Amino acid sequence: MQAQGADPNSTAALKVLAYRDAAYLAIDLRDLKVGLEHALDCLYWARASGDESLQVKAHVTLALVTMESYDDVSAQREFLSARTLAEKIGDARGVALVAVNASHFELERRNYPRAAQHLLDLLDSPSIQALLEPDAHQLSEIFHINFVVAVSETLLADTAPYSGAAHLPELKRQLAVSSARLAATLRDQRDLTLPDTAALLDALTRHALWTGELPVARALADEHVHRVSNADFPLLYGRALLDRSRVYARIGDLEDAILDAGQAVRYFHEAASELWETRSREQLAAIYAQAGQYREAFETQREVTRGVENLYRDYHQQRVLVGQISQQAREAEVRAEALAEAALRDPLTGAPNRTRAMQVLNQLHARARQDRPSAVALLDLDLFKRVNDTFGHLVGDAVLTGVTRHLSAELRQQDLLARLGGEEFIVILPDVTAQEAEVICVRLRDVLHGISWETLAPGLVTSGSFGVAVLDGVQDITGVLTAADQALYAAKAAGRNTVVLAGTIDASPQMQPY
Ligand code: GH3
Ligand code: MG
Ligand code: MG
Repeated sequence: MQAQGADPNSTAALKVLAYRDAAYLAIDLRDLKVGLEHALDCLYWARASGDESLQVKAHVTLALVTMESYDDVSAQREFLSARTLAEKIGDARGVALVAVNASHFELERRNYPRAAQHLLDLLDSPSIQALLEPDAHQLSEIFHINFVVAVSETLLADTAPYSGAAHLPELKRQLAVSSARLAATLRDQRDLTLPDTAALLDALTRHALWTGELPVARALADEHVHRVSNADFPLLYGRALLDRSRVYARIGDLEDAILDAGQAVRYFHEAASELWETRSREQLAAIYAQAGQYREAFETQREVTRGVENLYRDYHQQRVLVGQISQQAREAEVRAEALAEAALRDPLTGAPNRTRAMQVLNQLHARARQDRPSAVALLDLDLFKRVNDTFGHLVGDAVLTGVTRHLSAELRQQDLLARLGGEEFIVILPDVTAQEAEVICVRLRDVLHGISWETLAPGLVTSGSFGVAVLDGVQDITGVLTAADQALYAAKAAGRNTVVLAGTIDASPQMQPY
């Protein structure tokens, strides 16, 4: 398993993107269960790929899918995981992706100040630069749409979520820039999809409501309804009607406002979108009240209550489903941990491998720089080729495993015996001095020499040579390993079955091997 620097064309990377697209498609088809399963597969393969920016994308996908199933707690958690990871690896595009999607999530929940906050945080961070990349065009477009909606609505509601009103002029300036840009896109870009067009018109309508340009708002809302009316998108059409109804209500044309809201109710009902049907009724009830039609307002409000009850019931059914699937998510987590763990082990002996040894050395090197030195020893089994030649490769393999087991049993819990490759091992001894390390290695050498291989290969005797060096924080890790290697070489030269401490010339043979 590759740990880092994964190839974007690797099978795992391709699977991440395929599962992400499949998840979004399932959501469009309102199959939330399948959507969640694909999103989890997406995360699984992102982890397997070892590419952390892919993991950022996968967490975002999982956030959006859990959001669709109203598991807001999980959605927030996934956004947080995505953001933390993107920041950790310095992935500016990832940070921007998370902010834009987290704002989308808040917009869907109609938490406009919070949606705005995500985008303002992004504006204040260096990651905003990522939106200027030529291939970030689409993300940048969504940023501006979300920004215009979130900020216009927040200002309209006259709530001030922002850290200090000092931000206000800057905020309004950015709002003007973003809305001008949306207007230009709408005017100049020929190949806009219908949902894109609808989103642009919606954002600009809200902006015009905020600036108080009511005729402009009305024209935009009209165009919005017009553009989507002929398409087979009941949800888009319903939302357009609802937005226009609100504009009419602002202008004081309550009759048309009631007509549009009533039509939106019917459309959402047809489209089986209970949430939007209820939202439309809520708006309709408010307009009835504004028009002084209190009886209609009361009856419509009663329908809202019923709708909310239905939503509540659906929500609980949904929770059961989500519960089952998050159980699977936890299992996937455990599987991913097992994979990561396996990536740090040598498959033959089960000992930690070179990668793991380097991780530990890096940690201990950092510690040594703060005056806590450690010791390391390189161990190379003596004349191991002869073991293979005499007893066969399978016996050689079994000996490597047996040696690992016997020597590990001699070490403290904080020590590490790792197999670097072939018949070479490293012993890492935290907080141990050179002299102590020498004593420990002499003991290991004796244990190794004393192992009985009677049942495996009668007549076989093993021994090993050790080169010990100190990880003192002064020399870098490569330097320390080179010193240990030279000491190991000296131990071989001195007749093997020997421990040599780096920087000493005392390399008297302790015993002849074999
Ligand atoms: P020296 O004392 O100088 O280290 O002699 P040596 O024979 O141990 O050294 P050499 O580097 O010539 O040979 C190492 C041998 O280790 C060669 C190879 O057959 C054996 N070996 C390396 N990896 C494995 C393994 O995974 N399984 C088995 N059975 N043998 C291995
Ligand atoms: Mg060797
Ligand atoms: Mg050897």
